[in-house]
Amino acid sequence: MEVQLTAPNGKTWTQPLGLFINNEFVKSSTGETIASINPSTEQEICCVQAASAQDVDAAVKAARSAFRGPLWRKLSGTERGALMHRLADLVGEHAELLATIEALDNGKPYAVALSENVPEFQNVLRYYAGFADKNFGQVVDVGPSKMAYTVKEPLGVCGQIIPWNYPLDMAAWKLGPALCCGNTVVLKLAEQTPLSMLYVAQLIREAGFPPGVINVINGHGREAGAALAAHENVAKIAFTGSTATGREVMKLAAGTLKNVTLETGGKSPLLVFADADLELAATWAHIGIMSNQGQVCTSTSRILVQEAVYDEFVQRFSRVIENVSVVGDPFDPSTFQGPQVTRAQYERVLDYIKTGQDEGATLALGGVPLGGPLSADTDSGKGKGKGKGKGFFVAPTVFTDVKPTMQIYREEIFGPCVVVAPFKTEDEALAMANDTTYGLGAAVFTRNLVRAHRVAREIEAGMVWINSSNDSDYRVPFGGVKQSGIGRELGEAGLAAYSNIKSIHVNMEAS
Ligand code: ADP
Repeated sequence: MEVQLTAPNGKTWTQPLGLFINNEFVKSSTGETIASINPSTEQEICCVQAASAQDVDAAVKAARSAFRGPLWRKLSGTERGALMHRLADLVGEHAELLATIEALDNGKPYAVALSENVPEFQNVLRYYAGFADKNFGQVVDVGPSKMAYTVKEPLGVCGQIIPWNYPLDMAAWKLGPALCCGNTVVLKLAEQTPLSMLYVAQLIREAGFPPGVINVINGHGREAGAALAAHENVAKIAFTGSTATGREVMKLAAGTLKNVTLETGGKSPLLVFADADLELAATWAHIGIMSNQGQVCTSTSRILVQEAVYDEFVQRFSRVIENVSVVGDPFDPSTFQGPQVTRAQYERVLDYIKTGQDEGATLALGGVPLGGPLSADTDSGKGKGKGKGKGFFVAPTVFTDVKPTMQIYREEIFGPCVVVAPFKTEDEALAMANDTTYGLGAAVFTRNLVRAHRVAREIEAGMVWINSSNDSDYRVPFGGVKQSGIGRELGEAGLAAYSNIKSIHVNMEAS
């Protein structure tokens, strides 16, 4: 149920492979396993156990009995918060190893995993640990003869399904508020990137969480994920992933009218007005699409630029990409962009690039697969092709002269590939920005303060960045409108999805 692994940076560890149910790693009932592939080399790292519907049922049973048992239920909010702080501490003690696992399994740069993803896990847990004893009901004044008060109570067993782009962050976003409110959890990892959270599962036990409070399982979406979403004893489903899968999850959850929160896809616009600081816009436009290999649901993947500055913006933007987007080995400190997470994603991005060319858009930059990772005898190319090795590397790609009717303009690509289109007026920019089924993020670049706030209000999106892109902060609500999701994660708003409000009426005239 475990294997010794060594990463290219020399780190060695014992990797758990089982399903973490009731604080124990167990085998799948069917014996089925899923291979985790290193996207930089295309080699198998190890095989983890894959949960069947029967295993999901066992995990839900464990979570349900933990929910009803005294070890968790009788804890005060303060005590629950203390456990969460302890888990955050332990994750911090294993920070370098967790960042190593993330770079190996997901392909994201080690430096990013260490400086952003591991601290995010800790910050989110600590933030919600702080809320655990500050989240309570009200006394409602209904006159002298009656008294009424509300109690916030946990929902029960929460099924949480996370994607592969941010394995640690997504787990924390879901665990934090659920545990804060006193729920128990079955967390289903993405089959492509299970290793970091299986390692964290050991720390859950070490932190002192009672058995069954947090169960962490790996498994295929259509089997384990679907079984969790449909399970009659799961009170709530929280899902992050594609819009198509979110729709499926919602249907499955409808069978028992589960509470559902969804965080799904996007095609977020970034608007550059002629009065903008173009260098600032180019810098953030780069961060907004090329971070995390372009695998971010909030990526500002549709750049709309006012005609007067279109050419200059494209020039500056391309220069930033060439200077900053060093593609290569996730363990190389100079790397900005690692490989796409899987062959399927790599091929999907390359297919979209071909579609864009077929549709007649101008390929201004990139557009090619890159052999990788970097080795001593290849160019230290910045956004250029290099080497003919293995790995799912794609050059940062920019399409210009893109028309709003094109597929690459309308569909989520989920890779380092961006479209740039011109607009004439603010009204046209808004119409183009809102002409999408999605509504996750939006960015606006202008020096005109009034315009910035006006546009921010008019754009149909859950989040707007003014003179910036893709800011995310655990204290600030995150989520989308339209087909980008339902509900909010993070911030105080994130708590609403994890408790019921029970109203208790007291007759003060009874003797
Ligand atoms: P991708 O297509 O990029 O892998 P998905 O949205 O399909 O993204 O996956 C996100 C998460 O949803 C993963 O944990 C995956 O296993 C899970 N999943 C996929 N299909 C289903 C399904 N039919 N029911 C429940 N969960 C699913």
